[in-house]
Amino acid sequence: MSLFQEKYDVVVVGGGHAGCEAAAAAANMGCSTLLVTMSLQNIAQMSCNPAMGGIAKGQIVREIDALGGYSGIVSDRTAIQFKMLNKSKGPAMWSPRVQSDRMRFAEEWRLLLEQTPNLDFYQEMVSGILTENGKLFGVKTSLGIEIKAKTVILTNGTFLNGLIHIGDKQFGGGRAGEGASYGITEDLLKLGFESGRMKTGTPPRVDGRSLDYSKMIEQPGDAVPDKFSYSNLTKPLSVQRSCWMTYTSNEVHDLLREGFDRSPMFNGRIKSIGPRYCPSIEDKINRFADKERHQLFVEPEGWNTVEVYVNGFSTSLPEDVQFKAMRSVAGFENVKFFRAGYAIEYDYFPPTQLKHTLETKLVDGLYFAGQINGTTGYEEAASQGLMAGINAALQVQERAPFVLKRNEAYIGVLIDDLITKGTEEPYRMFTSRAEYRTLLRQDNADIRLTPKGFEIGLAKEERLIRMEEKFTKSEAMVNFFRETSLKPAEANPILEEKGSSPMSQPDKMFKVFSRPQIDLEDIVKFDKVQEYIAQNDLDNEIIEQAEIQVKYSGYIEKEKNHADKLNRLEDAIIPDNFDFNKIKSISIEAKQKLNKIRPKTIAQASRISGVSPSDISVLLIYMGR
Ligand code: FAD
Repeated sequence: MSLFQEKYDVVVVGGGHAGCEAAAAAANMGCSTLLVTMSLQNIAQMSCNPAMGGIAKGQIVREIDALGGYSGIVSDRTAIQFKMLNKSKGPAMWSPRVQSDRMRFAEEWRLLLEQTPNLDFYQEMVSGILTENGKLFGVKTSLGIEIKAKTVILTNGTFLNGLIHIGDKQFGGGRAGEGASYGITEDLLKLGFESGRMKTGTPPRVDGRSLDYSKMIEQPGDAVPDKFSYSNLTKPLSVQRSCWMTYTSNEVHDLLREGFDRSPMFNGRIKSIGPRYCPSIEDKINRFADKERHQLFVEPEGWNTVEVYVNGFSTSLPEDVQFKAMRSVAGFENVKFFRAGYAIEYDYFPPTQLKHTLETKLVDGLYFAGQINGTTGYEEAASQGLMAGINAALQVQERAPFVLKRNEAYIGVLIDDLITKGTEEPYRMFTSRAEYRTLLRQDNADIRLTPKGFEIGLAKEERLIRMEEKFTKSEAMVNFFRETSLKPAEANPILEEKGSSPMSQPDKMFKVFSRPQIDLEDIVKFDKVQEYIAQNDLDNEIIEQAEIQVKYSGYIEKEKNHADKLNRLEDAIIPDNFDFNKIKSISIEAKQKLNKIRPKTIAQASRISGVSPSDISVLLIYMGR
């Protein structure tokens, strides 16, 4: 008798951030789903920093939430501190971030998954992919069990042939205390996939009771904390825990340098490329030799633990060197280690082997999501998991694929970048990667995406109703600003206070509020605005939405027009069997790249490095455009 049902609609391999979102999405969309993971105890582990969101990543979490994924809800329910980063800049840059309770985060994910209908669990290592004549029919486990599936989503994270390094010691592992995964890479190579190697690292965790916080600078959360989820399933924090900041010094750097000859980073043992924007402390000292100190953020790992994460001290130096150097950091003179820092090398699969749905080009029904695609970060992984889960479900249900465009979501930018350009180093999201970042704000992810999430059957109707209310009321408020005038006597005191030229005759509020000197906070100071808010019982979210629409209407309009123009190229579909070789007048490099990536649209072709604007012009002429 088989342990499993005859055939699952979707099997998700790996219960990390990508796997959890993938499993939840597929199951919530009505597919019989199995989540197979190496350790059910370690579902949704935060392998590195206990935090969700941050610059560009916070926008992704809100997008996941808007579509009906769970990362935002889990993050809110397990937060110990909330901060809206970049609040001094324009709203396109505002990025929510929470410090998380690591243990509660994993527990909350597991609770939510256990309450998800259609979802089964199994603890085992998947060691291979089952195919017949190149057609996928399931996975096999290390104990030789065959699990049949219509679609499979691989979300193996840092586990594929994972190799951990601490100083001159190295051993197999997928993460501290967990074994590596073997077999899948080899199977995929046999099927014709290309693989590569990447590396990442993590800092030591220390005992908070051994630290002297009086020597550090306190980093409290926001006075009025917000939250990620647009739903009413979570509440903002009423109590928060502070983080702390301290610095390294020349003495710390000298002590670290003493271990460089035993560093796998410098003695050639680690050959693969790590995340450029998350360098190890030894890398920072080496690259920026003239810098006398580096910032360290001292972050509690939860409400009920003394364990502390030392952000900025990622290292794979020998543990005795890590320890000695850390004892010279202000506030760490008596530090006790919980665990040493380490680096890990693992296999990834260049993501140019995927379609926009995250299905592989080589094997129908096989999807990859998360760190396996060369990305780094929980948010990047979770969003890919969500999209792979949605698309696997849609494939099973014989429905049209779900793809987000670059002007619709950071998730669209992420996936398009990955599959069109590939990545040679761990890819993380930045606001600068998005050409339409004024459109892709954290405050409007629900307006952008909840209708889509509802249409595919993932976001619940309550979400749509909430979003529609926010949209209608904020539009009405913008219209109120367009239609209502301010007299000079009403406006001039605030205008003068802000150094903006006084008015001599009445003018529409919309125009007054559009002045660059007027901040969002000023708008609510006007009596007429306060009356409107009270009469219509508007909450902060709606007011903020209306204010942003007014203050940034020029930028928003410009980006929309630009996106509309480019979307015309997005609609210029290149047929699947199009023969790029027969176009004589495009460069050889362009031909090679176009043949490799096989873009679906002219717009996608234009984003491939090595394909020039003149190649695109030729392509357009060839296609009769
Ligand atoms: P993971 O979270 O790694 O989850 C993979 C899951 O798959 C695990 O549950 C594992 O048990 C399971 N699994 C693997 N193989 C199999 C198999 N064959 N069968 C069954 N189950 C399997 N990110 C940053 O943004 N910044 C950093 O500085 C950073 N540093 C890191 C340092 C270290 C040491 C590590 C390990 C990770 C670091 N990360 C960092 C990366 C971050 O943890 C990942 O980006 C994120 O967790 C990826 O999510 P994922 O779902 O793709 O994979």
